[in-house]
Amino acid sequence: MAKIAINIATGSLQQAEMIVGIDLGTTNSLVAIIHPESKIPVALKEHDSSSLVPSIIHFDALGNPTVGEAARLFLETDPKNTIFSAKRLMGKSYKDIQENAGFFTYKVIDDDTESLVKVQVGNTFYSPVELSSLILKELKQRAEHILKTPVSKAVVTVPAYFNDAQRQATRDAGKLAGLDILRIVNEPTAASLAYGLGLHKDEEKTIAVYDLGGGTFDISILKITNGIFEVLSTNGNTYLGGDDIDRMIVQYWMQQSGISLEELKNNQELSQGLRLRAEEAKKYLSTHDAFEVNWNGDILALTREVFEGLIQSLIDQTIQCCSNALSDAKLTPSAIDTIVMVGGSTRVPAIKKAVSDFFGRPVNDSVNPDEVVALGAAIQADILAGNNKDFLLLDITPLSLGIETMGGLMDVLIPRNAKIPTKAGRQYTTHKDGQSDMRISVYQGERDLVKDNRKLAEFSLKGIPGMPAGLPKVEVSFLINADGILVVRAKELRSGVEQEIEVKSQYGLTDEEVEKMLLDSITHAKEDMQIRALVEARTEGEEILAVTEKFIAKNASLLTAEEITATASAMQALQLALTMEDKNLIHSKIEELNEVTRPFAERAMDVAVGEALRGRVI
Ligand code: ADP
Ligand code: MG
Repeated sequence: MAKIAINIATGSLQQAEMIVGIDLGTTNSLVAIIHPESKIPVALKEHDSSSLVPSIIHFDALGNPTVGEAARLFLETDPKNTIFSAKRLMGKSYKDIQENAGFFTYKVIDDDTESLVKVQVGNTFYSPVELSSLILKELKQRAEHILKTPVSKAVVTVPAYFNDAQRQATRDAGKLAGLDILRIVNEPTAASLAYGLGLHKDEEKTIAVYDLGGGTFDISILKITNGIFEVLSTNGNTYLGGDDIDRMIVQYWMQQSGISLEELKNNQELSQGLRLRAEEAKKYLSTHDAFEVNWNGDILALTREVFEGLIQSLIDQTIQCCSNALSDAKLTPSAIDTIVMVGGSTRVPAIKKAVSDFFGRPVNDSVNPDEVVALGAAIQADILAGNNKDFLLLDITPLSLGIETMGGLMDVLIPRNAKIPTKAGRQYTTHKDGQSDMRISVYQGERDLVKDNRKLAEFSLKGIPGMPAGLPKVEVSFLINADGILVVRAKELRSGVEQEIEVKSQYGLTDEEVEKMLLDSITHAKEDMQIRALVEARTEGEEILAVTEKFIAKNASLLTAEEITATASAMQALQLALTMEDKNLIHSKIEELNEVTRPFAERAMDVAVGEALRGRVI
């Protein structure tokens, strides 16, 4: 039964707020709910349109964003200002994506550092979190428009292989969009839920979830025992999907009609037109034997047989991944009880057949593969809302737990709503040469600055042996046992020095206090995010200044007088920017300093190598 509340002010009856399920995809995103009357999961859509919202953001000349189908139209006409695949950048540094840098047609800042990537559009720098929040904001607005009620709570899905930082980034994006993300669920788990798997107690099953989307392929092997999902292994290819199929068709048509690559590169209308026709052909061939269209007087044709030949190698690659995933899980194909198909590209019959041949049994494909993940998220949301009483809700942490890092920022180790017992750990380092103490301050709350959260405990890890800044590895781990007692431990891994502290259960907050802290975090999400971005930019700037200073002091002999002057003035400009409240200015000054110093680093490297070759100590 749906919950009913009375609005005291107006005296009217109100339905308790609905929790929505969101699939935040690389290519497409969508929202689903459990229909309040039929109790069936449904994807939200406006009248005749599709439930899918392309995960694309276009910025106009004034920097105003448009999200979805309208933004998609700019992919080829305005590539620099049209951001696609932002999900690939979540929680990543430039180093992580360097290999695939050519994939992005917009400007991803390549500062060669460990810090998180940013995207530059005009003179503004966006973090992947901000970009994802724009998509989530669009989804929230759509849902509110369709449901005609405010939506502020959601369950959001992420790939099973997402690490802690990527999950946290997804949560932050939700917060920035004004959404309280109650739970992050793995995409394969959500898809399984949509097929009713894991919804019965005493059920024990091993499931393979084959997910071929627009640009990514994931295979996950899951085990369900008593309603608990465990990921046994994951495999896949983060740069393989339906877009590649479209490209294969375009190439085929180019060969057929003698269009050169040069021609395609120089003619946006041609390349966009061919790509759109290719996608159309691909979709058509999922239910027909032959496709043909007259396009500007040219006949573009493709039979299903030729199509299947074109994509055979792609199919083989995905099957190889399935085989790898099974061997990582130490299973054979026959050990899999159920195969779940996810992602728009699994509509291709040849793909279904290959997967079913490999596992030796029919696949589950009765639920719409574009929507299945969002539908599962909606089921999870319904369970969290307490509408599904058959479900045992495990004990959860009411607020996030974390420690203070540089600049007074809150670094969350255990997000709120995590199941108890739970543990988490992360590595930190010193920022001063020879630093022997490290203060660990433990906080609880959802705000970005620790000063707005609640301090639970503080202690110092003493006796870290003298090392240059950045070298010590201090592992901080949080453990919450079944009684809700939090144990925080810090250990320097090189020397083994260790310290631990216990924080008593429930952390002494009433429900009202928890509620208020949550509300505050949503109300202040935007300013918190801005302060966090500013603090992070400043920290990065300070680090770069320190490194540059050290470098110049050591290697002055390698530089010309002009170079030293140029560096000094770039450093001065950055120093000045650090005193101002403008993160974009700081980033651009960092960029400028990097531009000036990049050649030095190479020169210094050459000298070092040369000296090593001459047998000298370096
Ligand atoms: P993601 O999970 O990456 O956001 P989706 O699951 O929404 O992606 O899949 C999008 C891909 O599915 C696109 O490449 C699209 O062309 C493809 N697709 C959609 N419908 C069909 C179809 N009928 N036949 C083949 N491919 C399809
Ligand atoms: Mg998907």
